[in-house]
Amino acid sequence: MTKISTQLSAVRARIHAACQAAGRFPEAVTLLAVSKTFGADSVQAAFEAGQTAFGENYIQEAVEKIIVLRQLPLVWHCIGPVQSNKTRLVAEHFDWVHTVDRLKIAQRLSEQRPAGLPPLQVCIQVNVDGGPTKSGVAPEDALALAQAVAGLPRLRLRGLMCIPEPAPDFAAACQVFKRASVLLHELNVQGLKLDTLSMGMSADLEAAIASGSTLVRVGSAIFGARHYPA
Ligand SMILES: *Cc1c(COP(=O)(O)O)cnc(C)c1O
Repeated sequence: MTKISTQLSAVRARIHAACQAAGRFPEAVTLLAVSKTFGADSVQAAFEAGQTAFGENYIQEAVEKIIVLRQLPLVWHCIGPVQSNKTRLVAEHFDWVHTVDRLKIAQRLSEQRPAGLPPLQVCIQVNVDGGPTKSGVAPEDALALAQAVAGLPRLRLRGLMCIPEPAPDFAAACQVFKRASVLLHELNVQGLKLDTLSMGMSADLEAAIASGSTLVRVGSAIFGARHYPA
């Protein structure tokens, strides 16, 4: 067993235990392996250990990996901020994008999604805790944005994503995650058909799963500590 396959197994066990504790089926939670800053060799090792869904933050870095690994049946999720000048790369190379928080970005993604590809799967990022990152639409504006995005032809709106600030304990983390889960429910009551709640990372995936997460984005617990160039 490689280190990555051992750590992947440990993360899968955590997801399984968290689902059991929450009375949920483990199949209801997708594991997204966040491979940012790690090379194609690490992605390949995770694939060989059965992982097919990968998340990336830095679009240029991601596209290089996606091209190198294009012969593997991988599903690529963009989970980093998307500026206007990067929408074409995202539309052409990714399967999912989790970080839509402005209609203008969604419109560009829809216009630029190549006709030969399936619709781009989209989550709207919501700023559930008013955190200082400033990314994400305010919860009270999520319905209007979701309705507009759902009407764009080359996108398929799947759900919501959030990245709350680290919470002091499990209960506090659940309280914030539950805001996203309540919001998803409210949007569905308004007629949207959303099935995805992208929340939970290495440190807080148990609280996210207890609060209804359907997709956890896990990096360091699988690949180890990240090293950013100085
Ligand atoms: C880096 C990152 C992750 C993974 O974080 P870990 O703490 O390494 O699991 C998840 N989601 C987003 C949006 C990220 O940027």
